[in-house]
Amino acid sequence: MSSADTLQAFKRDGRIAIVGASLAGLRAAEALRAEGFTGSLTMIGDEVGEPYDRPPLSKQVLTGWVPAGGTTLPRRRDIDAEWLLGVPADGLDLATNHVHLADGREVPFDRVLISTGVRARPWFVESEADLDGVFVVRTREHADGLQRALAAGPSRVLVIGAGFTGSEIASICRERDIPVTVAELAPAPLVGALGAMIGEVASDMQRAHGVDLRCGVKVTHLEGDAQGHFRRAHFSDGSTIDADVAVVALGGIRNTDWLRDSGLAAGVWGIACDTGCRALTLDGLITDDIFVAGDVARCPNPIYEYRLISLEHWANAVEQAEVAAHNMVSAQADRWPHLTIPTFWSIQFGVNIKSVGVPTFADEVVVTQGSVPDHRFVAAYGYQGRVTAAVSFNNAKWLDHYRQLIETAAPFPPPCPTPDGPADAKPVPVDFPSPQLLAQGATVVVTGHDPSERRVTAAWQHR
Ligand SMILES: Cc1cc2nc3c(=O)[nH]c(=O)nc-3n(C[C@H](O)[C@H](O)[C@H](O)COP(=O)(O)OP(=O)(O)OC[C@H]3O[C@@H](n4cnc5c(N)ncnc54)[C@H](O)[C@@H]3O)c2cc1C
Repeated sequence: MSSADTLQAFKRDGRIAIVGASLAGLRAAEALRAEGFTGSLTMIGDEVGEPYDRPPLSKQVLTGWVPAGGTTLPRRRDIDAEWLLGVPADGLDLATNHVHLADGREVPFDRVLISTGVRARPWFVESEADLDGVFVVRTREHADGLQRALAAGPSRVLVIGAGFTGSEIASICRERDIPVTVAELAPAPLVGALGAMIGEVASDMQRAHGVDLRCGVKVTHLEGDAQGHFRRAHFSDGSTIDADVAVVALGGIRNTDWLRDSGLAAGVWGIACDTGCRALTLDGLITDDIFVAGDVARCPNPIYEYRLISLEHWANAVEQAEVAAHNMVSAQADRWPHLTIPTFWSIQFGVNIKSVGVPTFADEVVVTQGSVPDHRFVAAYGYQGRVTAAVSFNNAKWLDHYRQLIETAAPFPPPCPTPDGPADAKPVPVDFPSPQLLAQGATVVVTGHDPSERRVTAAWQHR
């Protein structure tokens, strides 16, 4: 049989399993059917119920405008799949092409897509995380619980971590007129994602809206009362605050534990893959039948010196899923690279924040349009003299312009495209928190001397 015949037979009668039945998994399934795949499709997900959307969980669900159950993802088409929900995959056998499920079942496949995303990083002391009134926000059950706690009118909410999710939750608290304290170890909110200059703007915004913002401090201990309800938080500077609700917004952990013995390059960094979304083995070799998409993927981007980049962005999950699906049912010569420039949005304190590109891939930043005090501006990020990203505050209509600058490696700083450019704007160092603070440490070791025996082994003790 020719390779074209083999591919046609696979498209007609092949078996595809998708592990992780959320945004990336659902969009990939829809794209597979749209590409003419008529074989068997199995959707494996550890959550019960239909795939739903997560961005509203820290926005409209917490204001009470949208019930947590009202976030089901719209379907673009029928996917005619077998759904195995409410049970996690706990292993992947590449020798026999099987997904193992935690209840003992095995799902055979010809090709598999891994889209297991990330989970919320829990509070580090389990007994304190279990106190009533302590929340994380990743699932709709989490958001529903937090919404109820906010509706009950707490005396104060403590938000631990001022990244995008923490800042959005603080904003909702102020919108609901609930006193809120935000604790952030870094010098300002959003600083890890957008740098010191934007961090300062975010600090001003929070304080102007009445947030009790405490930066450069660590929450060390969550104290409960005799009934097991959270009541007080202790800080590294010796201070305390009393509150009834604590929201732990310390980012995510990639769901790769189940792949521990799979031989894939999967770990705290995500699952490494090529731009065609094919997973790499621990040795860095490309696999043929294992694909990755969404938050769990770590993909090289040629625009950013081919560095492997993990993104927790909605649009990236959708676009990567579509590329992965296309490549799963295409011949090598017809495969697509996932080359989209990342975009992200957030709404907080009445400001619509949007970004394009990878702001952390920058050494300088400059305000190019509008006015920072009015919270209506665009800032461009540059790396070694070329534009690599831009962020807009209430000025999103210009981001396509900056996307083109990024795609064409336009010189940094770019000229202002409108008459409202700030007269005295000068590039300043972007100033991200020290990478040493964020480093996870080595997680693999190389063994063997002869090229035929040299292999990479996971060093899990470093996790
Ligand atoms: C509160 C919140 C607000 C957000 N706001 C924005 C925003 O404003 N803008 C933006 O661009 N992005 C936002 N995001 C990010 C966006 O929602 C994610 O990028 C998107 O959900 C990624 O989709 P995914 O399918 O890759 O992963 P996920 O949505 O994380 O789905 C992965 C699925 O796999 C399941 N799973 C995990 N392990 C296993 C296993 N072993 N077996 C079976 N199933 C498993 C998980 O339970 C989950 O259902 C937000 C996310 C959150 C949580």
